Amino acid sequence: MKSIDNYNFAGKKVIVRVDFNVPLDSDLKVTDNTRIRGALPTIMKITSDGGSAILMSHLGRPKEGPEDKFSLKHVIPELSSLTGKDILFADDCLGDKTIEMKKNLNPGEILVLENLRFYKEEAKGDEQFARSLAEGCDVYVNDAFGTAHRAHASTTIIARFFPVEKLFGFLINSELKSMDRVVNDSEKPCTAIMGGAKVSDKILIIKNLLDRVDHLIIGGGMAYTFMKAMGGKIGNSLCEEDKLDLALEIIDEAKRKNVKLHLPVDSVNADRFDAEANVSLSAADNVSDGWMGLDIGVETIADFSNIIQSSKTILWNGPMGVFEMEKFSKGTSEIAKAIAVATEKGAFSLIGGGDSVAAINKNKLADRVSYVSTGGGAMLEYLEGKVLPGIAAIRSNS
Ligand code: AMP
Repeated sequence: MKSIDNYNFAGKKVIVRVDFNVPLDSDLKVTDNTRIRGALPTIMKITSDGGSAILMSHLGRPKEGPEDKFSLKHVIPELSSLTGKDILFADDCLGDKTIEMKKNLNPGEILVLENLRFYKEEAKGDEQFARSLAEGCDVYVNDAFGTAHRAHASTTIIARFFPVEKLFGFLINSELKSMDRVVNDSEKPCTAIMGGAKVSDKILIIKNLLDRVDHLIIGGGMAYTFMKAMGGKIGNSLCEEDKLDLALEIIDEAKRKNVKLHLPVDSVNADRFDAEANVSLSAADNVSDGWMGLDIGVETIADFSNIIQSSKTILWNGPMGVFEMEKFSKGTSEIAKAIAVATEKGAFSLIGGGDSVAAINKNKLADRVSYVSTGGGAMLEYLEGKVLPGIAAIRSNS
């Protein structure tokens, strides 16, 4: 497999799948350029080598065909200011004019194609569509980790037309390296912190991690299903009644595999699901009727923080409570801080999943953890042990 680190793009036309699926405001201005910045190292390597970069991405969820509010032309000013270059824009993905623009592209130039999802063939993984995207290009680079779990034309199928000249961009390389540092090559003790609403969403990851970690911390709404399964009283807290047996199975499997399972000991409760609700505290397995647990309590914060701070590898996915409401955000913020402290003491920390990333950003800790993943769904599937089609397409020899 070729590596971008020592690849020379001079004189090559490079078709690059990037993730420019950025939020836009009502004036169609980019409000968060994180994803564009994520693709910059790859784009700049190609152009500074003397290659020309043809960038393709999706943006939003257009329903049927082109819609102005989802046009990739809206990201051009931001890309131009970040690269310091004029950017060419093709207003479709495969028309005659676009083929001409690809052909005439000079070394160092950047061309952005229109939104891939204006074509239903993209999500269907249509081979003819992929062939047209590949036309006139010498190399395929995939740097869109956020869509690597999709077998779309631009993320997977297109690789068939580049049996040799295909490689990952810098962003996908660092995502893979970070995840492998947790799941395949971790320094011990290794701790996974899982939170969020439901056990059912995280079950495959939890099962996969039980073979790999020393400590499994469970917080958030899903912890109450475990409490109830163990005979606790959880009032109106979130509970998946049909997952009680599964929770017991996980407890058992953790024991068999010598993984220390840590559950909350105390709970911050609300009398209704509301930011202004009345608050009470209780043991996590003794929530009164009429109350619901919406955050972990101070004793749990202390327990979890101790484990985190004595770990050498940390994975965090999912908030410890309803962190969107100030009164129930402390558990999540304190866990984020404990991870930052552990990182400063030398641990490797990987944060993934929209809500944990939001919590890290809210607490201004992004620079104090080792890696913040850009791919929610893709990261979760990788940690479940699944083969991601976009990754396999580059690694395979055909
Ligand atoms: P997930 O998408 O599964 O990671 O879940 C994230 C959501 O779980 C967030 O919106 C949180 O507000 C919610 N959540 C976390 N803890 C609780 C809880 N104890 N009760 C209800 N919802 C929770």
